[in-house]
Amino acid sequence: MSQFPGPARPSRRGFVGGLIVVAVAGTAELVRIVTRGSSAQPVGSPRGLSPRVVRLLTGSSRPQPASPSATPSHSASPAPSPAHHHAPVPHHRAGHTHHAGSRHDHSSHHLTKQERRAREHVTLPPAQLRVRTGPAYRVDQLIPNAPQQAIALTIDDGPDPEYTPDVLRLLDRYQTVASFCVVGIHADAYPKLVRDIARAGHVIVNHSYTHALPFNKLPEKRIVTEITRTQRAIERAAGVTPQLFRAPGGDWSRFILRACASYGLEPLDWDLDPRDWARPGTKKITRRMLRARPGEIVLCHDGGGNRIETVRALRKVLPKWQNKGLQTIPLAITPHYTSSGSSPSPSSSPTS
Ligand SMILES: [Zn+2]
Repeated sequence: MSQFPGPARPSRRGFVGGLIVVAVAGTAELVRIVTRGSSAQPVGSPRGLSPRVVRLLTGSSRPQPASPSATPSHSASPAPSPAHHHAPVPHHRAGHTHHAGSRHDHSSHHLTKQERRAREHVTLPPAQLRVRTGPAYRVDQLIPNAPQQAIALTIDDGPDPEYTPDVLRLLDRYQTVASFCVVGIHADAYPKLVRDIARAGHVIVNHSYTHALPFNKLPEKRIVTEITRTQRAIERAAGVTPQLFRAPGGDWSRFILRACASYGLEPLDWDLDPRDWARPGTKKITRRMLRARPGEIVLCHDGGGNRIETVRALRKVLPKWQNKGLQTIPLAITPHYTSSGSSPSPSSSPTS
């Protein structure tokens, strides 16, 4: 019954930007990742890491081709890939026809070594949740009885010591609750911020460990590590276990959806992308966010680059949403568990 439709909105790309990261997170692994990233732009490079971070990690002074400055995020993808990234598609889902896993399938010729590795399969644990056919991009797909005027604000790529506290203060000022899609490496670097987010009553979503892109091209083993490592990082930091996973860049695949089900995570997407990651100016971000309509899941960012425009936009948008009667709700969900193994069940109670 409630299988989510395939994803299909404009694509966006994320990125990781923290600095301190280096000291705290699995340095060896990161160095491997980044080093590989510097060669041929292989799958899984954490594009968006600032050149400074990359230099710290690799000990190299050579600028990394993959990270056009500390900017960002979703825009930072040099991925030679297809039009659906950055296509100036409207944020509403008109004309969307893609399904999870289909977006990159046309590139099956001339596999690189990384791509071949990506096709080596791993065995997932039995699904805890119903396997979705696509991620949720509207509130009612996750919370069927949500209030009519509900919208969900999702805030990605942090926590960030510079912007997350500002965002938290704003949410507090307007007595609003959001869902923070946290990057594991940042959670390890700034556990106190993760704790602050949880203590303020916001939902914490798993947004991978390194935000490597394109996420759905990573080897399966790596995808699993990105997911599980972030679960542990968030648990360590805040004592909560995320129930939602958002794929970096919104790049999904069938494997990612199966992995989500295996690890008890509902796949989360978004409906309205104000493209704040491209830093188009506070006014544009504000205007775009004010187009939000009831039921939509709105994307914005508190990490992955300079997010001052996003913070300023939120300052304007939050009171205006309230004046319009929109009710921002946290994506606090009741997962749909399977009764056993991977076979879907209508039951909503957990299995033992
Ligand atoms: Zn992201």
